[in-house]
Amino acid sequence: MRVEQVEIRYVRLPLKRHFETSFRRTRERHTILVAVRADGVEGWGESPVEDGPWFSSETVETAWHVLRDFLIPMMLGQEIARAADAFARMGRVRGHPMAKTGLEEALWDAEARQQGVPLARLLGGVRDRIESGVSVGIQDSLPELLEQVEGYLAQGYRRVKVKIKPGWDVDVVRELRRRWPTVPLMVDANSAYTLADADHLAALDEWGLLMIEQPLAYDDLYEHSLLQRRLRTPICLDESIPTPAHARAALELGSCRIINIKPGRVGGLAQARRIHDLCQERGVPVWCGGLLETGVGRAHNVAIASLPNYTLPGDISASDRYYERDVVVPPFRLNPDGTIDVPRGPGIGVEIDRDFLETVTVRREVFTQLQHTCHD
Ligand code: MG
Repeated sequence: MRVEQVEIRYVRLPLKRHFETSFRRTRERHTILVAVRADGVEGWGESPVEDGPWFSSETVETAWHVLRDFLIPMMLGQEIARAADAFARMGRVRGHPMAKTGLEEALWDAEARQQGVPLARLLGGVRDRIESGVSVGIQDSLPELLEQVEGYLAQGYRRVKVKIKPGWDVDVVRELRRRWPTVPLMVDANSAYTLADADHLAALDEWGLLMIEQPLAYDDLYEHSLLQRRLRTPICLDESIPTPAHARAALELGSCRIINIKPGRVGGLAQARRIHDLCQERGVPVWCGGLLETGVGRAHNVAIASLPNYTLPGDISASDRYYERDVVVPPFRLNPDGTIDVPRGPGIGVEIDRDFLETVTVRREVFTQLQHTCHD
């Protein structure tokens, strides 16, 4: 397919309620949506950056710069045989996986729409529904956390993940277990601890957690391998796995027993699938985390999570977990049994709510081969 036009949009979408991790409280989602027109067909993707370098070193402005000045010129007017080749075609640009993801995902959507097949099928997906878990941020008080968890369980979510940090960890887990002794439960530290906290973290072992996600530094593999030897609870890595090579190293070192694969973190769907395949060969389960994506990124996450080795419920929740109104129609909904349907329509299987999207777009640029136009 020939890339005829690329459009990038800086979107700001208010969250229903703030979301707090060990490093930051967020009230509004800042992200970039990418639309590609190829052979007359339009596809959409998302670069799930933030307004600052918090989860990732990328931001709205770095991704905008790299897309505008490097990635889009590299792809515009080019013949791309398959979206699966796009990541390699962008290989001259080092790093910047989130910038690459938006463009790569848009090409996947366009390719699937051209073929008239759901994206999940094009990727090799085998499920028509995915099990949905919910990620609950740090709250101002324990009663508030318990109330929220109770609400999500009543909605049907199949697994609960709570964000932890020093001072909001073992006591919180003990209380959750007292209330819900058997619910599938896990914690995510987003790198809030050091190896010196190993004994403290080992106290979590008695509560039967599915896993502890990313306890140590965001770029570490070695110390996680030492910590994993001290813990019965499986460690799951998120931030520490930006590439398939890091995944291989982590599994060789014993740094984790589970990997959370987020397309945005690894440079798109093809890279996510490579990590999925590597883990599958080694019998290591994976699941799909979230970056508070709008419905566009959410749709791509749902599609990749339909692959066979995504055997654990992920963080892909319904649109209304985060947003009053999503930028896609229909929004993603939770079934009463705690699953989310994999869309059956062509491509990502949902359509852009263009009127609403205009109201949440802060900035937009359109690139064609001959010119580009900027709208603030
Ligand atoms: Mg995480």
